[in-house]
Amino acid sequence: MSLTLSQKIDQTVTNVADFPKPGIQYKDITPLFLNPQLSQEIIDAFIEKAKGKVDIVCGIESRGFLYGIQLAHQLNVPFVLIRKAGKLPPPTIAQSYDLEYGQATIEVNSTYIKEGDRVLIHDDVLATGGTAEACAKLVEKCGGKVAQFSFIIELDFLNGQEKLKPFSDDLVSLVHY
Ligand code: AMP
Repeated sequence: MSLTLSQKIDQTVTNVADFPKPGIQYKDITPLFLNPQLSQEIIDAFIEKAKGKVDIVCGIESRGFLYGIQLAHQLNVPFVLIRKAGKLPPPTIAQSYDLEYGQATIEVNSTYIKEGDRVLIHDDVLATGGTAEACAKLVEKCGGKVAQFSFIIELDFLNGQEKLKPFSDDLVSLVHY
């Protein structure tokens, strides 16, 4: 029997215990990139869910860039990078958010997202949702509207979905753990 896309991803992604900190089960998605056919299937699945709904794709640094730009350009829409503070040249707009210890800040070019744009926010893993939530706030500060969130992997037990619902209830995750 042929495997579903979720099963193929599950069998390809590597679990690394206690990385980068004790107690974290790290999902290493880099083996997906060794397989062009599976990578195209992943992009096709994201396209199927997003087509006709988005004007811009925003990818979250750095693993959100990898399929994000291919997804955007195959949808024939612009791709915008959301990066950690200090990496993008001006003009930028910033959003801070809380981490387990301390704070982080992300930035985006303040001219790329236009008033009323329907934005897809894309990343590799949805964990607590703090990063994607900060991106959604950034998109709204620019005048955009979050049309969809998409992730390769969602860690259901961390309830990241709850943080994202106020921005959009259209959330795509190809594999759940
Ligand atoms: P969060 O803000 O908690 O949803 O974390 C999301 C960001 O952290 C994403 O950009 C992921 O790449 C990364 N991340 C969080 N948890 C994991 C994990 N268990 N394995 C791999 N990446 C993770």
